[in-house]
Amino acid sequence: MSIADEVRRIASELPSGVKLVAVSKFHPVEKLMQAYDAGQRLFGESRVQELAQKVGAMPSDVQWHFIGHLQTNKVRQLVPHVHLIHSVDSLKLLQCINKEAARIDRVVDVLLQVHVAQEVEKFGFAIDELEALANEGQLAAMPNVRVVGLMAMATNTDDEAEIRKEFTEAHRAFEYLKQGCYRNNAEFCELSMGMSDDYHLAIAEGSTMVRIGTTIFGIREY
Ligand SMILES: *Cc1c(COP(=O)(O)O)cnc(C)c1O
Repeated sequence: MSIADEVRRIASELPSGVKLVAVSKFHPVEKLMQAYDAGQRLFGESRVQELAQKVGAMPSDVQWHFIGHLQTNKVRQLVPHVHLIHSVDSLKLLQCINKEAARIDRVVDVLLQVHVAQEVEKFGFAIDELEALANEGQLAAMPNVRVVGLMAMATNTDDEAEIRKEFTEAHRAFEYLKQGCYRNNAEFCELSMGMSDDYHLAIAEGSTMVRIGTTIFGIREY
């Protein structure tokens, strides 16, 4: 199927309220434009430099989502362009985004990444760590970041029960915060989870945003 057909097919299958982020990392602008011409506006990138280059080459109504591991020394370059950072995995990074956003007088939307996978090399806050930070009020004190939800990645496995369990855990953490320290913040409403191989499971477990690359654009050549 062509890129345009895949975008239309997935978009038409998603339940209402679930957004599609087309993960375009490592793919050239010509491919992104095929998705754009099929109506796609949310694009996900995992490297700051690549995102910044694509911003200049794509129409201005694209929403750029940053989904990769973010180093504090790259935040300044990212902040002017980004619509939503999915992958905030430390308090230090959140503070850095707040500072850089303040410098250019912006408020940047972010998701906090929760670690639910079995793989130790995956990033993110442990759920109890996140709940402690929230309860201590540490997440509330930054005026130039707006925490609009959580992001999670499941273990890369064929074991559906395991994937489902991890998405359920992420959903539970999301509800805990939503009903706890974010109960008066209607903007805390996004749960980003689900990739090409597991997005159906993620939606069944409460995802509001899926990040799909390979199914749309094909295999990446690194
Ligand atoms: C690359 C990536 C995706 C997309 O993965 P596919 O399997 O190609 O759909 C989604 N989320 C994150 C965080 C990624 O790094």
